[in-house]
Amino acid sequence: MKFKHKNVLVYGMSVSGEWVSKLLLKLKANVFLYDDDRQKLKCKNIENCYLVQELNDNLISQFDFIVVSPAIEKDNKYLLSAKAQNIKIFSEIEFASQFCKDYVALTGTNGKTTTVELISAMLNKRYRAIACGNIGYPLSRAVLEKKKYIKVVEVSSFMLENADTFSPHVASVLNIEADHINRHKTMEEYTKLKYSIFKNIKPQDYIVVNLDGNVHPTKKCFVLTYSQKCMADAYLRNGYIYLHQNKIIAINELKIKGKHNLDNVMCAICFAYIYKISPSKIREALLNFSSEPFRIEEIGRINGIRFINDSKSTNISSTLACVESIKGSMILLLGGSKKGLDYKKLFSKLPKRVKSIVVYGEIADTLIEANENCFEIKKASDLRSAFDLAVANAMKNDNIVLSPATASYDQFSNYVERGKLFNMLVREYEVGTKKK
Ligand code: ADP
Repeated sequence: MKFKHKNVLVYGMSVSGEWVSKLLLKLKANVFLYDDDRQKLKCKNIENCYLVQELNDNLISQFDFIVVSPAIEKDNKYLLSAKAQNIKIFSEIEFASQFCKDYVALTGTNGKTTTVELISAMLNKRYRAIACGNIGYPLSRAVLEKKKYIKVVEVSSFMLENADTFSPHVASVLNIEADHINRHKTMEEYTKLKYSIFKNIKPQDYIVVNLDGNVHPTKKCFVLTYSQKCMADAYLRNGYIYLHQNKIIAINELKIKGKHNLDNVMCAICFAYIYKISPSKIREALLNFSSEPFRIEEIGRINGIRFINDSKSTNISSTLACVESIKGSMILLLGGSKKGLDYKKLFSKLPKRVKSIVVYGEIADTLIEANENCFEIKKASDLRSAFDLAVANAMKNDNIVLSPATASYDQFSNYVERGKLFNMLVREYEVGTKKK
C-alpha cells in the first residue's frame, strides 16, 4: 500500500495515536487528528497534522483509511460509519507491524509486561531486541526509533480489535481470566479476541503454550510448551527450571518471586529457545532480571511490618497470584473503580492468612457484599484512609499489601499514580515513626 498523500484519520490521541501520526507523516501521508476529548487534541504538539474539530459521515468519506486508538470501542458511531462506507480501519499495531521485519507478540490477562521484558532481556543477549506495544512504548515508535531491532510486542485485547493482518513470528497467550467484561461484554468475546493473536500464524511460525493453562490453540505450526507440573520444553524439576536437558536456574536464584512468575519465565525461555539463545545466556539474563515497579514490589519494612505494592494488579486472578506469592499474615487493600467482575470468586479463594481486608473507592460496597462475611472487612473512602486503617490494625510480621483487583480510574489517572501514592504513604509512615 502506498501512503504518500493519502488522507488518514488518526482517531484517539493516546501515546500510540501520537506515534502512529509521526510514522504516517514520515510516510508523507496527510494526517488528520481527532479525539472525542478536545483537550487531548490541544495537548498534542505534532506539527504538520490537521486537527479535526468535528467528525461526521461526510468527512469520514474523505479518508483513505483510519488508524484507531485501542480506547475506541468497536461499536463507536464513527467507526460504524467508516465500515458502512468501506473505509479500512487499522489498529495501531496492525498499521505499524507492516513496517516490521521480525516481531513476536504476547497477550494474556496477566503477566504480559513482565514476560515481554523477560523475552527482550534474553533476546538482547544475541540480537538487538526491544519490548514495545502496550507497555507505553508503542510499536510505531519502535518502528521509527529501533528500525533493525526484533520487536517484542505486548498486545492487549483492545489492540487486537481491528488487527486483521497482524502476524507475529512467535505468539503466545499467557492466560485468560475474567477481565474487561465492561468493554467486551462476554467472556466468549474476550477469549475470541485473545485467540485472534494466532489468526495469521503460518506453518513456519511458532506458538508457545502453557500446558497447565487454559489456552490451547490449534494451528498448524511449530509449538513449544512449558509446564510446572509435567514434561514440556521448559519445565520444573526439584526446584530448578529446565529447558530440555539443560538446568537453567534454581527458583530461589530468581529475583522475581511467586509461582505465576515461573510461568512468565518459562514462557520467555521458550521464545528465547526459538531465537537460539544459549542456555547460559538465558541464565545470565534471568539472574539480572527484576520486575518493573508496582508489581509485587517490596517497598520497605517498618516496625516489623512489610509493605508490598502491587498496584498493577487490576483483576481477581492477578490479586490471587500476588497473595499466593506472599508468605505470612497480611492486610489486603482492595479498591478502585467498578469492573463488572464476580468478586465472590476472589473471596472464596483467598487464604486465611489474609487477616483482614480494607476496601475503598467506588467498588467498596460491591466488595463488602461479595465477601459474605468470609473475611474481616473495613471500609474507607480512599487509598489514604485505607492505608491508615491498615496500619492501625497491623502487628509485627504482618504484610500490608496493595493489590487492588480492579482499575484505579475512580480516583487516579492510572495504576502508576495509585502506586506512587502508596509508596508516598509508606514513606510518610516511616518518617512519622522516626519522629515518635
Ligand atoms: P500485565 O502486563 O498483563 O498487566 P504484569 O506483568 O504487569 O502483567 O503483572 C501485573 C500483575 O499481574 C502482577 O503484579 C501480578 O500481580 C500479576 N501477574 C503477573 N504475572 C502473572 C501470571 N502469569 N498469572 C497471574 N498473575 C500474574
